[in-house]
Amino acid sequence: MEEALTRATVPKLLVANWKLNPQIEAEAVRLARASDAKNIVIAPPFPFLVAVGKALKRATLGAQDVFWKLHGAYTGGVSPLMLRALGVRYVIVGHSERRALGETDTMVNKKARAALRAGLAPILCVGEPLAVRRKGLAAAKRFVAHQLRADLRGVSPSSVISHQSLVVAYEPLWAIGTGRAATPADAAEMAEFIKGLLVKSYKLKVSVLYGGSVNVRNAGAFLAEPAIDGALVGGASLQAAEFRKMISINQRS
Ligand code: PEP
Repeated sequence: MEEALTRATVPKLLVANWKLNPQIEAEAVRLARASDAKNIVIAPPFPFLVAVGKALKRATLGAQDVFWKLHGAYTGGVSPLMLRALGVRYVIVGHSERRALGETDTMVNKKARAALRAGLAPILCVGEPLAVRRKGLAAAKRFVAHQLRADLRGVSPSSVISHQSLVVAYEPLWAIGTGRAATPADAAEMAEFIKGLLVKSYKLKVSVLYGGSVNVRNAGAFLAEPAIDGALVGGASLQAAEFRKMISINQRS
C-alpha cells in the first residue's frame, strides 16, 4: 500500500525527443495526439511547438534546446521566456547531439541557469562516450560527475523548487540511437550515484531519467528500477503505436 502511494505521488516521466522530426506540422499534430497522456513530455522541433501545444490535453510541452540570452543580436537564438510564453515547461539542455556540434559545458551551464531563472525545468543530459565506458562503470561515474559539476556550477537549491524542476537524463553516448541500451542495473546504479552526488555537493534533489535506445521491449525493465524516475526516448517516440505501448507500460509501473 505504501509503495502504491509512493508511486502514485511520484509518477515516472517519459520524455519524447523528436529531434529533427517529423517533417510537416500535420504529422507532428497527429503524433502529438497519439502520444497525449499524463506524465509525458513531448519535445517537438521549434516550428511545431505552437501546433503541438494546442493538440496536447494531458501531456506537457517540452523544447529541445534554448539560448541563454533574453534579447539582443543573437541570430537564431530562442530565449527561455519565448518558450515559456508558448506554454513550454521542460527544455532539454546539453543533449550529446548538440555537444557534438560544439556545445561546451560552459554553454550548457548558461542554458540550464537561464532556463531555471525563467521557470522552465531543464532536462540536463549527461553521459560518457564508449571509450570511457570501456574502462568500467567507475570511470563512467567520474566522467558524469565532472560534467554535472561543470553544467550545474552556480545552480542553487533555491532555484530548484521541486524534484521535477531540474531533471537529469543519464544518456551514455554509445547507447543513443544505436539499439544498444545500457543494462537497467547499470543505469540504476548511475542514477543513484547522480542523486547522491547532487544531494551531497549541491543540496539538490533531482529526478534522474535514463535515455539511450529505450523501446517497447526494454522500457518496463528501466521503469521498474526504483532509482530511475523515467526515460528520455528518441527514435521509439516517433513510432506512435510503439510509444502508446510504452505509455501503457509507464502507467502500470
Ligand atoms: C535521445 O534522443 O536522447 C535518445 C536517447 O535517442 P534514442 O532513444 O533513439 O536512443
